[in-house]
Amino acid sequence: MSGSELYAWGDGMTIDLRHWLGEAVTAMGRWQDTYGPYPAHPSLQVTDEDLGEALARLTDRLQDNYPFFHPRYAGQMLKPPHPAAIIGYVAAMQVNPNNHALDGGPATAAMEKEVVARLATMFGYGDHLGHLTSSGTIANLEALFVARESHPGKGVAFSAESHYTHGRMCGVLGVEGHKVAVDDRGRIDLGALEDLLRGGRIGTVVATAGTTGLGAVEPVHEILTLARRYGARVHVDAAYGGFFTLLAGEYGIDRAPWRAVAGCDSIVVDPHKHGLQPYGCGAVLFRDPAVGRFYVHDSPYTYFTSDELHLGEISLECSRAGAAAAALWLTFELLPPTREGLGQVLAAGRRAALRWAGLIEQSPALELYQPPELDIVTYFRAAESLTEIDAASARIMTQGMNDPGDPVFLSVLKVSAEAFGRRIPEVRADADGARVLRSVLLKPEHEEYVGTLHARVEKLAN
Ligand SMILES: *Cc1c(COP(=O)(O)O)cnc(C)c1O
Repeated sequence: MSGSELYAWGDGMTIDLRHWLGEAVTAMGRWQDTYGPYPAHPSLQVTDEDLGEALARLTDRLQDNYPFFHPRYAGQMLKPPHPAAIIGYVAAMQVNPNNHALDGGPATAAMEKEVVARLATMFGYGDHLGHLTSSGTIANLEALFVARESHPGKGVAFSAESHYTHGRMCGVLGVEGHKVAVDDRGRIDLGALEDLLRGGRIGTVVATAGTTGLGAVEPVHEILTLARRYGARVHVDAAYGGFFTLLAGEYGIDRAPWRAVAGCDSIVVDPHKHGLQPYGCGAVLFRDPAVGRFYVHDSPYTYFTSDELHLGEISLECSRAGAAAAALWLTFELLPPTREGLGQVLAAGRRAALRWAGLIEQSPALELYQPPELDIVTYFRAAESLTEIDAASARIMTQGMNDPGDPVFLSVLKVSAEAFGRRIPEVRADADGARVLRSVLLKPEHEEYVGTLHARVEKLAN
């Protein structure tokens, strides 16, 4: 079956997207009909001919894209949503509910509370406060906002490999941000963190469970013990890595950091990364529901249909897509955030990363930058100097994506000479850093395809 027959989900996928999108339109049309007929306004009318031509121009322009859906694409954290998410999103988008307030659509507000509760359970939270956001960045901003309000006048510590937005959002919040050195696997250096905590200026430590560059899981358990000793909060940024908690204790994924997450004060996870969702779906969770007091505000326009909690009363954003909650809700009905459900999707990517790392270790042409902790593989063309490695990474990436007959899509990660030297001291440090190749194996299809990927990259390397 080809993409045009069903949908480009690879051979054997039997979800007929056109059929189910039709069902979603039909079902919501029936609901609309219960309100009776009304005249459409001529100002909105367009002809089928114009629509068809304009759509053709759109889909034509959309061909200028990378094939995120295909396992040939092994670059950044990008893939299309699951068909269930697309169908759920389209079904709800026809209503266009706004999850700011129950007045904006009670159904999707209730779904949002349900999916957030499932995420909380996944991390081991019981009572909690939380909501979806438009992104991981905004979710982290909220966590740091609550950090500032609960520890006024104190700063925030995060590792040098944490997401770049933590430093930026500290600036936005007017809070001092402190970058902490990392160890030889790209995780926060506990000695350096303790020195900083001892100074008494830190109110919150950010622990990254799955760094964006390397997929390194920082030792949340040890960070938590240290932070508590100095009276600091712990925020876990698991925007990328969070769903790997489903695999803790398996496939070489250490259980201890993930178990400790339940004892931390806040968590961010991005369903639009590993949760099969379209963009516009992050989430923030707080262990103590009482932090809701920091959000107190008055809105003269909203909050009138119910005395129940409106999501806008506990979030910094105002309008948010109810359709995002519906998409995640429908996805979780079918692939719940459990080891047996969504866990199996992540497990395939994790096995792909382990398998590829094994192939790279046996390859004379390629070398691992470090062993993958989750599903991000970092590697480089074996060479004597950083300059050569850097040039080879750039060349392999460019040649790979520009070969129309057999393309492969990779990404690169810039690492410092110091970081490189701590891992592979034999390489001559003739530059201040080098690009290495980086592949996020975000799709379960990579498991079967990784031999092909490896052979292709090896050929480019030679
Ligand atoms: C992706 C990511 C972010 C930012 O999330 P967006 O959804 O891209 O805004 C923050 N932290 C980590 C660890 C990430 O991987």
